[in-house]
Amino acid sequence: MTGVIVAGAGPTGLMLACELRLAGVDVLVVERLAEPNGRSRAGGLHARSVELFDQRGIAERFVAAGRPGPFAHFSFIPLDIRDLPTRFPYALAIPQAQVERLLEERAVELGVRVRRSAEVVDLRQDATGVDVRIAGERGVEWLRAGYLVGCDGGRGAVRKLAGIGLSGTPATLTALLGDVVLTDPPADVVFGADSRREHGSVMIFPADVPGLHRVITMEFGKVTERDSPVTLDTLRQACLGLGGTDFGMHDPHWLSSFSDAARQADRYREGRVLLAGDAAHVHFPSSGQGMNLGLQDAVNLGWKLAAVARGQAPDELLDSYGAERRPAVERMLDSTRAQTALWRPDAQIEALRGVFGALVGSEEVNRALGGTCTQLDVRYPLGDGSPALGRRMPDLDITSPSGHTRVFESLHAGRPVLLDLGGRPGLRAALEGWTDRVDLVEARCEDDFWSYPVIGDVPAATAVLIRPDGHVAWVAPAAPAADAVASDASAASLGSALTRWFGPARGH
Ligand SMILES: Cc1cc2nc3c(=O)[nH]c(=O)nc-3n(C[C@H](O)[C@H](O)[C@H](O)COP(=O)(O)OP(=O)(O)OC[C@H]3O[C@@H](n4cnc5c(N)ncnc54)[C@H](O)[C@@H]3O)c2cc1C
Repeated sequence: MTGVIVAGAGPTGLMLACELRLAGVDVLVVERLAEPNGRSRAGGLHARSVELFDQRGIAERFVAAGRPGPFAHFSFIPLDIRDLPTRFPYALAIPQAQVERLLEERAVELGVRVRRSAEVVDLRQDATGVDVRIAGERGVEWLRAGYLVGCDGGRGAVRKLAGIGLSGTPATLTALLGDVVLTDPPADVVFGADSRREHGSVMIFPADVPGLHRVITMEFGKVTERDSPVTLDTLRQACLGLGGTDFGMHDPHWLSSFSDAARQADRYREGRVLLAGDAAHVHFPSSGQGMNLGLQDAVNLGWKLAAVARGQAPDELLDSYGAERRPAVERMLDSTRAQTALWRPDAQIEALRGVFGALVGSEEVNRALGGTCTQLDVRYPLGDGSPALGRRMPDLDITSPSGHTRVFESLHAGRPVLLDLGGRPGLRAALEGWTDRVDLVEARCEDDFWSYPVIGDVPAATAVLIRPDGHVAWVAPAAPAADAVASDASAASLGSALTRWFGPARGH
């Protein structure tokens, strides 16, 4: 029996498979396509995604393959993200196909098995596992696994087979995408605000494939069936209707459609079946969030599912995945709804864009929207005690007995870290029952304050418990007495955080 079957070798499925394998789980990725098709919907990664790669020591691969740019926006109203407190204060332009290639390389390095031409077509679960029916070039067969995660995209089968509904707001527009040859292309790229037309917008820019242009049309008020076929003629008519020219388009290499329906799965888990990425949520690609959301889902779920699959943590730990990710995703769905509203072709909306654009000029608004757009401001509901609780741990420069390092380097193995910056002997004792699962890092840090996007500087803590996804699960009490962590109350609060997230102490 396989530990975990992941359906779908998109960015979410591959990242999840890497996380599971890093934690020692036997994982099989099944992918419907015979080989990567090289088609990129997404064109970029935001700062938090690059940080996630940095937490695993692979950020350089993506940065080297991409192009950093000051390109972040809210409904194409520019956001200045250069001052955000991260080592990656930019948007990284990198085609989705490259992201998938680099993730698949990493997955194979880690020992993930990837099986292509294998489509999930049915499933049955019981108390001890899931039977997954796979159809492909080997015919039809049933494979058994401890868990199945549907990372099979917005049109995937797993959510429906698991009986999980999708709720949210319906489509109000139709968007078409075509990678086509243009005989008569515009002299310059047509993107962002320049693309706005009376009834929608037409964007045109060079596609990843030399010789092709990507044409994206948006027709407001026109709603088509989700799976209605897109032809060259549909795209041509949309262009003609919106802008009066079809730029002499011909030879389509890829045609697709999408909409502003913003919905998410009613729950991210049904027993032993879980959902992540577009399989769990769909929305308009305003400010390029979907792939980034999927990567964050994968990193939130990976260590939890690994601990449960290995029998080190109780099954309920898996419920925290949906409890944390659903509200974070809902915020992003609202952001895309707001951005679509601001894009609507209408004189009053045009006025609103002007007002909104002026507001974005204020530092506070710019920082708030920048924090959301880069997904650096995500805070999971882990308690209110300290502003650090539930937020991502900043990547501080620290000095450990072995020399200079960074917090993110201590997370490369994908294990939780108890970071002691105060030289407290009591911490080591409090961690005693968890040393097989949690690393203790004793270090010094020069910073008196930690900088966060949006909330700004907060006083540095003397010790924190960092989950493998980089989020802080426990903070030592502020301004402690010399022996505070050794005190019963602090040791108890650390002990309950360790138990909650990483299972009971050894021997209990
Ligand atoms: C025009 C456009 C621009 C975008 N730009 C951005 C951007 O700049 N940044 C960003 O973050 N996001 C962007 N997105 C969104 C992004 O492309 C998606 O959110 C992302 O692809 C989701 O990744 P995923 O792995 O969850 O799903 P997918 O990429 O859809 O991967 C799912 C995989 O599962 C496979 N599969 C499907 N069904 C089965 C089955 N039954 N069995 C086995 N395998 C199956 C599929 O073949 C596929 O390989 C954009 C989207 C669009 C439409």
